[in-house]
Amino acid sequence: MDMNSATSQFKNRFGYSPARIVRAPGRINLLGEHVDYNDGLVLPAAIDRATYIAFSPSVTDRSTIVAVDFDQPAVFSVEGLSAKSQTDGSPLPEWAHYPTGLMWALREAGLATPAMDAVFLSNVPRGSGLSSSASVEMAFALAWQTLGGWTRSPMERALLGQKAENQYVGVNCGIMDQFASACGEENKALLLDCRSLEYRSLPLPESVSLVVADTTVRRKLTSGEYNNRRNACEETVNLLKDDLPGITSLRDVHLDDFNKLAKGLPPELARRSRHVVEEIGRVNQSQSLLEAGDVQQFGQLMNQCHVSLRDLYEVSIPELDAMVEIAQGLRGCYGARLTGAGFGGCTINLVEREHASEFVERLAKGYESNTGLHPEIYICRASDGARLL
Ligand code: ADP
Ligand code: MG
Repeated sequence: MDMNSATSQFKNRFGYSPARIVRAPGRINLLGEHVDYNDGLVLPAAIDRATYIAFSPSVTDRSTIVAVDFDQPAVFSVEGLSAKSQTDGSPLPEWAHYPTGLMWALREAGLATPAMDAVFLSNVPRGSGLSSSASVEMAFALAWQTLGGWTRSPMERALLGQKAENQYVGVNCGIMDQFASACGEENKALLLDCRSLEYRSLPLPESVSLVVADTTVRRKLTSGEYNNRRNACEETVNLLKDDLPGITSLRDVHLDDFNKLAKGLPPELARRSRHVVEEIGRVNQSQSLLEAGDVQQFGQLMNQCHVSLRDLYEVSIPELDAMVEIAQGLRGCYGARLTGAGFGGCTINLVEREHASEFVERLAKGYESNTGLHPEIYICRASDGARLL
């Protein structure tokens, strides 16, 4: 799975060699959970799993894009974009909404999107919390930038990808996924301020692995829970405004003030907002720890994050708790926590590289005997963001 398979797949389908190859990675988030919609700080990293596109300008005005992983082509042009239809009038397959969404967002921004022949494939697992969708979007943003002859910064391309996913695909995501895919750096985590969009990179020692463990539990109807949490945060801000008139989000609430005022809040709101305020504090703390290379202490922050998500934000489930507890007892594990919205999905673990394969083996065994489920576990490292190869 790499640029060579993209090239050979392209030759198979189109009968000539592609002009260029792009690569755009998936991502993990080390710390800063459920804080993006509170204007907070997050700490993602791009990973060494990515989407590859081999592409050339088309001699026609139609783009032909083949999703190798679905073994399916989509043929479209500007005319069918808003109707989400192909040139023969049939509906675009769902996966094609990501590339065509990008095309739509780029055109809305006045950027050229020349027709292309392309094949793409990916080793980012789909729907597993590693952001396969953002990797597809950021790969196509860069492919069209290359063909269109314009230049936008990685952050600007990330914002265009988010717009495509929000407004064309119809998924209400924040900026973190596209940002990490576009701006990733090898062996670095990225500290992103979700309010100002300022960011800086922080070193991750080469000796640690990022291990993602998928519980394989997928809870349905969790969007209600997600919206509940968002509303709780907003409600708390409104209540706290009586005492802290300047605040517009939980980001603006200092822990000292919060501790004084929390007693006056309904207990559920107090728990929810305490998670957010303390989690933003943890991400703040992580900066000096990672700069000093103190992965031990940093791992403790990840462990604290899990307890907070479990007991205060209440988005964990027994399978996630089991995966975290087993991990925390294994050799070489610095920290483990649930990641993503919760109620299923994955944990993220920071593990000493030399123990990583043993860790994976023992975690899988422990989780299976505890739950009867077979987990999917991925060893990753922090990698570069979207690039032309
Ligand atoms: P994730 O958490 O992995 O981003 P999403 O549900 O947001 O999960 O996005 C997954 C969707 O992105 C897939 O259903 C598909 O439409 C698209 N996608 C991701 N990877 C690929 C791929 N390799 N080929 C085609 N489409 C893909
Ligand atoms: Mg996604």
